[in-house]
Amino acid sequence: PYAIEIKSLKKTYSNGVQALKGIDLTVKKGDFYALLGPNGAGKSTTIGILTSLVNKTEGEVKIFGYDLEKEKVHAKLQLGLVPQEFNFNSFETVLQIVVNQAGFYGVNRKEATARAEKYLSQLDLWEKRNDRARMLSGGMKRRLMIARALMHDPKLLILDEPTAGVDIELRRSMWQFLQELNKEGKTIILTTHYLEEAEMLCRNIGIIQSGKLIENTSMKALLAKL
Ligand code: ADP
Ligand code: ADP
Repeated sequence: PYAIEIKSLKKTYSNGVQALKGIDLTVKKGDFYALLGPNGAGKSTTIGILTSLVNKTEGEVKIFGYDLEKEKVHAKLQLGLVPQEFNFNSFETVLQIVVNQAGFYGVNRKEATARAEKYLSQLDLWEKRNDRARMLSGGMKRRLMIARALMHDPKLLILDEPTAGVDIELRRSMWQFLQELNKEGKTIILTTHYLEEAEMLCRNIGIIQSGKLIENTSMKALLAKL
């Protein structure tokens, strides 16, 4: 029943910083979940471990039931990541970037083209498909990162501070897109340090502080407490 199951997760970086001090966290299938917390709390470390970019020190992580250690390939296939930094080859075109990503995951050409058209259209990038990514505005680059993350049709989409530095109009349209994806059945996890963003979008919320999960509750219950 869980998209994510994290047990006693700890991370100490090689410089001795204890970024995660034992986190227990579950996210249900189909949930829209926010991981909230101040800078340095451990949000990116948690996302890094979920996406296999950071090695955990201790603990257990399952993604749709697949153990991240023992069944890494299956676990990784379940998720798409939208990182904070733009990390595409900006000399490629928008269409190349998304179609190549699909190819990387073994999606056939026909399906890849169909998905590219669907997501680029929904994200208002289809007209820009033949432009090199370096020509896009910051907001368009961010939307391109979202389209790319969806190309292998992951069940779970993880976004790290998706609307940082994005203007309010674009923020609203990104929110709407994510809500529609969630309605279509995708589980979504995002990190943010804006409570309003979490409030707007998410059903459940975890608050992380100094490497510990200090709250894990429904958005409603949290708002009732404030
Ligand atoms: P957040 O995403 O909530 O801002 P991070 O997970 O980035 O928090 O950071 C948690 C802690 O781990 C911070 O003290 C940060 O300085 C430290 N940290 C993050 N990445 C590294 C790294 N690669 N090496 C050493 N320390 C790190
Ligand atoms: P960023 O937008 O993150 O700064 P770049 O546009 O500098 O990224 O580079 C993205 C990718 O393009 C990297 O893999 C880099 O090796 C490659 N790259 C950088 N410069 C060139 C170039 N002049 N011609 C072709 N590829 C390049």
